[in-house]
Amino acid sequence: MIAKVEPLTPARALRGPFDYLLAGALEGVGVGAMLVVPFGSRRLLGVVVEVAERSDLPPERLAEPLAALEADVPAELVRLGLWVAQEYVTTPARGLALVLPPGTGTGAGRRMAARRSLSASITEAGRRALEGGVRLGERQRAALESLREQPRRVSALARDTGCDHGGLRRLEKRGLVALEQALEESRRPVLRGVGAGAVVTGMTRAQEEALEEVVRRMDAREERDRRLLLRGVTGSGKTEVYLRAVAAALRRGRSAIVLVPEIALTPQTASRFVERFGDSVAVLHSRLSARERYDEWSRLRSGEARVCVGPRSAVFAPLTELGLIVVDEEHDGSYKQEGDPRYDARHVAERRAEACGAVLLAGSATPRPESVLRYERVELRERIDSRSKGGTAPLCNPPGGLPPVELVGMAGVSGPLHQRTRDALDEVRRRKEKAIVLLNRRGWSNYLSCAECGRVWECPNCDVTLVLHRAAGRMSCHHCGHAEPVPRSCPDCGSMSVSQRGLGTEQLGAELERLVAPLPVFRLDADTAPGGGIDRTLQRFDSAPAGVLVGTQMVAKGHDFPDVTLGVVLDADATLRFPDFRADERTFALVAQLAGRSGRGSRGGKVVVQALDPDARALRHAAEHDSEGFVAGELERRAALGYPPYGNLIRVVCSSGEGGAQPERCSGEHRTVPSPGPETAAAEAVRRLIDAPGVAVLGPAPLFRLKGRHRAQLVVKAADRSAGIAAVRSAVESVSSSAEHRGASYAVDVDPQ
Ligand code: ADP
Ligand code: ZN
Ligand code: ZN
Repeated sequence: MIAKVEPLTPARALRGPFDYLLAGALEGVGVGAMLVVPFGSRRLLGVVVEVAERSDLPPERLAEPLAALEADVPAELVRLGLWVAQEYVTTPARGLALVLPPGTGTGAGRRMAARRSLSASITEAGRRALEGGVRLGERQRAALESLREQPRRVSALARDTGCDHGGLRRLEKRGLVALEQALEESRRPVLRGVGAGAVVTGMTRAQEEALEEVVRRMDAREERDRRLLLRGVTGSGKTEVYLRAVAAALRRGRSAIVLVPEIALTPQTASRFVERFGDSVAVLHSRLSARERYDEWSRLRSGEARVCVGPRSAVFAPLTELGLIVVDEEHDGSYKQEGDPRYDARHVAERRAEACGAVLLAGSATPRPESVLRYERVELRERIDSRSKGGTAPLCNPPGGLPPVELVGMAGVSGPLHQRTRDALDEVRRRKEKAIVLLNRRGWSNYLSCAECGRVWECPNCDVTLVLHRAAGRMSCHHCGHAEPVPRSCPDCGSMSVSQRGLGTEQLGAELERLVAPLPVFRLDADTAPGGGIDRTLQRFDSAPAGVLVGTQMVAKGHDFPDVTLGVVLDADATLRFPDFRADERTFALVAQLAGRSGRGSRGGKVVVQALDPDARALRHAAEHDSEGFVAGELERRAALGYPPYGNLIRVVCSSGEGGAQPERCSGEHRTVPSPGPETAAAEAVRRLIDAPGVAVLGPAPLFRLKGRHRAQLVVKAADRSAGIAAVRSAVESVSSSAEHRGASYAVDVDPQ
């Protein structure tokens, strides 16, 4: 027999599959087996993507594999990995790397065997640190970048990156990497829950009906659409429906995947699954060590665990007989991967569910227009606790037990807080209650400028302003991590009046502390809480009798604090001021989600939303908890413009390290028009090659310089998805292999978010 093997190499040029002769002990290997194969003078690790009777090569040119690894991948997942590679315009190796046992990424060639050695893996905080905002030494950055690809042995890492044992220990202390003795008792990861975790005995009528819909699809024999959208406000009992749907799948001898947004932010959902299903659950949360991750993968692969709960990568869990995929908080942006392959776990989940006849159950209080349009729907219209609520008797209570939302305009208001907000916080202070304050981050960045000459401090590598961290006395770039001390005077004009612009969480925290003292203020901020800080802060807020939780987008995610009586959103329309067709959708979801966090307990509650323009459509619908109305308007708008879900967008970014066209920034009189750089030339070349009916290309448009690279962007709009993807792939492949554009690199993002 012949095995067609796709080598797991990061080299884009090396495309398999290549044929190998199966003989002897290896005769029985099938699709999904992992083989060590000779390749020229090298050895490579590869995955069997097909087994065939014969090869086109003459027998004397066929080599035999050297060995097979113990671990293998279900054939179904090999197909899924290759599909991802096609769909997201990347190499087969990178697509396959997603479905392989953890630790076998591209180019690993080594099994995660029971070695007695210290190994390192990157944490979620470490991944974020690479995106910027955190100070990193050059070697530390190199080490993190290497670990982003795969967990590695400390010794090998030190050799390759120069970041030694001591340096890694320091990264570990900061929560950016996890170090682990590879040969240890296999430990089950521990999960701590935060927030309410009541035992549910009976289901409401609405929950019963939703569950019946799921089960009906699970049991349907004929080919049919098994996708279902569960729309239900926060606290309406969606999680209970998921739990029972998973139980139903298990009773039928099938397995289930439950996708959740980042688990560090929503530990209570994951822990409810562990409580309910015990050892049949494998939780793939972001802070597992390399070893734990591998162990959980093996438990899934062996069938010992039949339920996988995890963030986007869990969509590739090695389960067989899949009966159900749940996508909780399906509107959440974390389902899209930012680096190559830029897959969207929701789209992959659709594909996987369809391929194995599983039910896809997506749930949210603020579902995406895409899902509303395409999925059949079931609704949970009321909060579970709405029946028993007295509350503070506002003028008109919205239906379903949701809190009333007040929109206040900030035009002409001096200072960060509106009087209505101050009053509401004062009430919280007097009554010793709890409040959540959401700071819409993008509107609040904190930077330094010279009062005399107007100089703004920018990152030397990226064309963005540096963000000020007053407490640390430093300014840093949130894209590349560049940091420098706060200057005493302006280097351009010598003026000493260097002033702070904008208002960051630090300043707001101080302001709030003054307002609500002596109640405690808890800050939830990626900058102040690297590593485990996030769930510790949440736990402290949860167990405090009263206080204020303040932070950026994170505070609006799925926590369930039953006793929050006030929600505040600051600069709610900041997200609207970005030129992005999803701006309305994002703003709506953010405000509606935060509104869902308030007033869940017996004391009721309310929400105050501050905005420059309180009449914005997204805000008005959010204030009325009107997801239906918002999505209807949104779909109309998108249909008119040919945006998703009525059309498809693909973004192509060409970049180059060499000087190129820079957007003119200074207002001086010597305005020179720079000639287009290699990145723009490459983008032009790609653009010329994209030529298909129904496919339009916008650009190239210059983007701000990032990490020292000049960038130019094309946006491809395609009525037909696969035609658009195919056109982009062939254009990018041809330009990237041409000698003329050798200096440029390419990033393709299908369905950019
Ligand atoms: P969602 O996922 O929609 O935000 P949850 O499933 O977390 O809502 O439910 C909110 C709260 O109501 C939880 O504390 C949960 O234990 C409780 N709950 C859910 N269903 C019921 C029920 N049928 N009867 C009583 N309590 C319930
Ligand atoms: Zn100056
Ligand atoms: Zn930078």
